[in-house]
Amino acid sequence: KAKAEGRNTYIFFSSEMVEELEQKLEVEKLLLECVKNRGFKLLYQPQVCSRTGRVHSFEALIRIKDSNISPAKFIPIAEESGMIIDIGYFVLEEAVKQIRDWIDRNVDVKPIGVNVSAVQLRDENFTRRVIEIINKYNIDPSLIKLEITESALMEDKERNIEIIKGLKEKGIQIAIDDFGTGYSSLNYLTFIPADYIKIDKSFIDKMFADEGKKQVLDGVTFLAHKLNLKVVVEGIEDREQFKYLKSMGCDFMQGYLFSKPVEKEEAEKLCSYIFKECHPSEM
Ligand code: C2E
Ligand code: MG
Ligand code: MG
Ligand code: MG
Repeated sequence: KAKAEGRNTYIFFSSEMVEELEQKLEVEKLLLECVKNRGFKLLYQPQVCSRTGRVHSFEALIRIKDSNISPAKFIPIAEESGMIIDIGYFVLEEAVKQIRDWIDRNVDVKPIGVNVSAVQLRDENFTRRVIEIINKYNIDPSLIKLEITESALMEDKERNIEIIKGLKEKGIQIAIDDFGTGYSSLNYLTFIPADYIKIDKSFIDKMFADEGKKQVLDGVTFLAHKLNLKVVVEGIEDREQFKYLKSMGCDFMQGYLFSKPVEKEEAEKLCSYIFKECHPSEM
């Protein structure tokens, strides 16, 4: 198949490219329907305190109802089409509503982390909208933790630092997500008034394959603590990893070893649960 671009110029698409494009359009259509008909839901994955084994907070992770297409696939498409703006506010509002519900029902409420895309950060109304949603349900802003990736922060450093300062002033917590996948300098950490860094799974996986990476992780944890940042590690799948990372002083753990992302009813039960994996006698 060929398509004309101007005069006498042809770009040829391979059948794989056509297939990919068709798939993308398909997903885009699905997303549009979901935005219109509330076709999304949130799952919650606990972040466990490595010292006490208690759930410290949750991360909200979006899903398309009745579909197993992963966010890793549809979020980039939502970003390209701009739909992520609406989707992002939906996710935040759902999380805030969940907290309101837990407070009203006397559940031992935990903070919820909400992922923020680079595209959302570019929205000039971002801070105002976030605060509006939190105020609408009258919850303590510190119960919301915005997870912003290292690479999103790097897009427009000066501006993003100002945005984060504004959010922090309102009491909202900030986590630097997917730390170790971008190429920001450690020095950058000293400029961002965040509360947490979340070390990416790929970094942990590499760590166990490569002795040098362990030293880097050790150094990052040390530096983070010096800067008053708590360290969350994501993608903990086995006890070896957990033991090692705990001994290194990493504060919170998120991963299948503890729990996969779960429905809200299940998450509610976890609010008062203590993971025995963290008890010294189990280690
Ligand atoms: P993320 O923010 O880094 O989220 C962590 C991802 O790792 C989640 O994948 C989670 O299910 C997965 N995970 C956690 N523990 C383990 C483990 O032990 N092993 C393995 N193999 N995976 C683990 P998920 O839910 O598929 O989300 C993927 C990415 O999609 C997220 O990465 C985030 O970047 C994005 N995403 C998810 N929900 C949202 C959202 O509401 N808004 C935005 N903007 N992005 C979202
Ligand atoms: Mg995240
Ligand atoms: Mg992450
Ligand atoms: Mg990640």
